[in-house]
Amino acid sequence: MDESNIQNPVVSEDEVPGAEFWTFDRLAQMGLLEPLGRVFLHVMVVVTLVGTALFFRQVGFPSNITLTPQSNMAVLAAATPQSGESEEESESTVVLASLPPFPTTSVITGIRRALILETDLPKLDRTEPITYIVRRGDTLSSIAEKFGLKVETIFWSNVEALERDPHTLKPGIKLTIPPQDGILYEWEEGDTLQKVAEKFGVEPEAIVDYPTNDLDPSLLLDEEASKNIEPGTLLFIPGAKLDIDWRMPRFIRERLAYAPLKGPGECGPIGYGPIGTYTFVWPTTTKIITTYFSPVHPAVDIAGAMGLPIYAVDHGVVVYAGWHYGGYGYVVVIDHGNGWQSLYAHMSQILVGCGQEVFQGQIIGSMGSTGRSTGPHVHVELMNQAWGKVDPLQFLPYK
Ligand SMILES: [Zn+2]
Repeated sequence: MDESNIQNPVVSEDEVPGAEFWTFDRLAQMGLLEPLGRVFLHVMVVVTLVGTALFFRQVGFPSNITLTPQSNMAVLAAATPQSGESEEESESTVVLASLPPFPTTSVITGIRRALILETDLPKLDRTEPITYIVRRGDTLSSIAEKFGLKVETIFWSNVEALERDPHTLKPGIKLTIPPQDGILYEWEEGDTLQKVAEKFGVEPEAIVDYPTNDLDPSLLLDEEASKNIEPGTLLFIPGAKLDIDWRMPRFIRERLAYAPLKGPGECGPIGYGPIGTYTFVWPTTTKIITTYFSPVHPAVDIAGAMGLPIYAVDHGVVVYAGWHYGGYGYVVVIDHGNGWQSLYAHMSQILVGCGQEVFQGQIIGSMGSTGRSTGPHVHVELMNQAWGKVDPLQFLPYK
């Protein structure tokens, strides 16, 4: 500003005679012509708009875009989230039927975008772990699903907060949610960063840089120094590729778990695995019972579409996973470590393996019709050490 005045000595105040001041030449010299032109243009636009509005007020709008009070309410309903529920549920409150067919459709789409309320759950390209406060009704599985991670990742990333026991999950607990799947590794005598990184197919930097590992970056420069990491230290290895040789901390059980069936899916006696809660979740997404419990059918059959998820009814360890010649087809048995076992038969796909630790609500396979079966369903048995096979509907949340 100052410079332009200096370069333009013509515009100095004492030279300006009042009468000649407002000429185009003067304005141009002062550099005001362009701004004034813009102001004029804006005024013209406003005048045009107001004129158009007044014209329509006189003539009247076409009747098919007149908004009735009822349709206004529908728009409001669509714009107002009912509770802070998920995006999908909010979408279902958009009442298209009561709106005029054409003009308001785009309005609804525009409003709906504002309903993405769950900004605390970023899923894309996160590189840092985030903190999640457990809410009422959360399970390890539902949290894992929310963040697109494996249940094991959530559990082992928070093994200390959870006191090595998934039952301690309760509202208010702060969980660390890693940016990606990985495993928790228990440092062993003689390990070096390079060795451990190689073992899991990651770069040493990934381990050192992971914030909760709390490692000194200088370890990257001095390979020998990493030998000073205390054996037993738990380190999270982000992006770890599971190898046959990997070692993870485990739940130690007092009693060994045995498979109740003979066959190719049988697992050897297993001395670890989380202990069940004595509460159960429903094992799939439908509640269509096709065969009830009876002495000749000590189970319940729940029908549904091919491929529906089958959930572990409680925490435990897999003691059978595979084919069964006796008619179960592809079957999984979980030992819950508290005297209970659960069996899931006729699966189309098994998603867990022998000895795998599973958590309540974790997906263990898909509904199918393998073995002695006439259509897609899951055959669920609940076995108790003291009572034998019991009616699952007496224990599962059927209602
Ligand atoms: Zn059955």
